[in-house]
Amino acid sequence: MKIFFANLATETNTFSPIPTGHAGFHDVGYHRRDASLHPGMHGNIAQIEWRRLCQRDGHDIVESICAFAQPAGTTLKHVYEALRDDLLADLKAAMAEQGGPVDVVLMKMHGAMVAYGYDDCEGDTCARIREVVGPDAVIGLELDLHCHLTETMRKACDAIITYKEYPHIDVGARAVELYDLCVAARQGRVKPAMAYYDCRMVSMWRTPVEPMKGFVAKMQALEGRDGVLSVSFGHGFPWGDVAEVGAKMIVITDGDMAKAETLACALGEEIFRIRNETSPTHDSIDAAIDRALAAPAGARPLVFADVADNAGGGAPSDNTEILARMVARGVTDAAIGCFWDPVAVSFCREAGVGASFDLRIGGKCGVASGQPVDLRVTVMALSDHHTQGGLSGGRAELGAAAWVRANGIDIILNSTRSQVFHQDAFTGLGCLLADKRLVVVKSTQHFYAGFAPLAAEVRYVATRHGAIGPDFANIAFTKRTLPFWPRVADPFATNS
Ligand SMILES: [Zn+2]
Repeated sequence: MKIFFANLATETNTFSPIPTGHAGFHDVGYHRRDASLHPGMHGNIAQIEWRRLCQRDGHDIVESICAFAQPAGTTLKHVYEALRDDLLADLKAAMAEQGGPVDVVLMKMHGAMVAYGYDDCEGDTCARIREVVGPDAVIGLELDLHCHLTETMRKACDAIITYKEYPHIDVGARAVELYDLCVAARQGRVKPAMAYYDCRMVSMWRTPVEPMKGFVAKMQALEGRDGVLSVSFGHGFPWGDVAEVGAKMIVITDGDMAKAETLACALGEEIFRIRNETSPTHDSIDAAIDRALAAPAGARPLVFADVADNAGGGAPSDNTEILARMVARGVTDAAIGCFWDPVAVSFCREAGVGASFDLRIGGKCGVASGQPVDLRVTVMALSDHHTQGGLSGGRAELGAAAWVRANGIDIILNSTRSQVFHQDAFTGLGCLLADKRLVVVKSTQHFYAGFAPLAAEVRYVATRHGAIGPDFANIAFTKRTLPFWPRVADPFATNS
């Protein structure tokens, strides 16, 4: 069997001021034909699994591109088209040069990629792949759960599987499932029938905690029995202004579409029923700082997430609102990061370790960045190439970085924009966390697996101006026509 696989992924915040261009894809681990032979980074985890499985089972491997860009604003048209066309050229070459059709195509994509002229890059790419490979090949698509599940994708693909966990600790596990399902389908052992159910919700769901933890377990318990091949909950990506934005269930059964639709509906209705318990709650900055100041001395740190400035959702990651309040209120024994501020990093490198000088931090990209903060800092450590532990293994780039200290607060500055995943974003520079009263991370949820073991308590803080504020009722959609919760209390009461 000949198996083709590739990755073309970014998550597009259509409200972000940062364009996604050539460098966005090419500066962070771009590979063509050999990504799976490189050490694990965020983008190539699925491809590493697929190569391993193909080799185990004796299948021919045709690997194409691996292109992952840090989430930001809308992708430039020519950049998307060039990546897509490279992928399609590799696919056509595989069919022409290596004698005979491709049996299985495995795609790793995000599911919320928007380019100028393309609201559904994944659907566009998969539809074009279908045109090339014809109706007999099996196309499988693994998506981030923060995806817009579109009809174009569903029609083009035999199987779509999303991550189940947020934080995304299961990229590799889902890749294995997609491989197994698609190979079985090509061998005629199963016949996937795939249904969606639109939950008519725009929100976020944290899967390490109940009741979502139990819902994930329930989805997994349904799989592999009674003809149910796969169950996914696509949470949706709230900051994408596209017609099909929102949460959807996917159920794939073995040849029984009615059963797939019935189960998808039942599970989607269950998600809707528990909407209030699963709706994420947030503290104001001052309420969170009150909590930190009241914590007993010697306790483990509180960990706060600056959710609205998460680079992983397309935010600049240089919003200063929490830092400014920490300084104003005299919070000490604290750490905060990572501020995407290449200019500040360059000043620190010029100054050198041990130097003290006046540094302007953050507040540089736009309104969502807040005002810059000016502090007399001491440079504690520098790195030419800082990295942190990534999701589902591998390393994530942080670029040239600096650890500075000011007013009893340790601040991490970086130059490759990324949210915080793991403690080594701080500790890798020598900034210890265990003795802190407060640790603030710029991330919505992916920090959780790495920081929960450290924390006396994890809190989620909503700032006023962050680029991905969690006010789901009031996101300025222009393209979704169907009603959704929480903008309306009962989105199923009407279709208009
Ligand atoms: Zn995601």
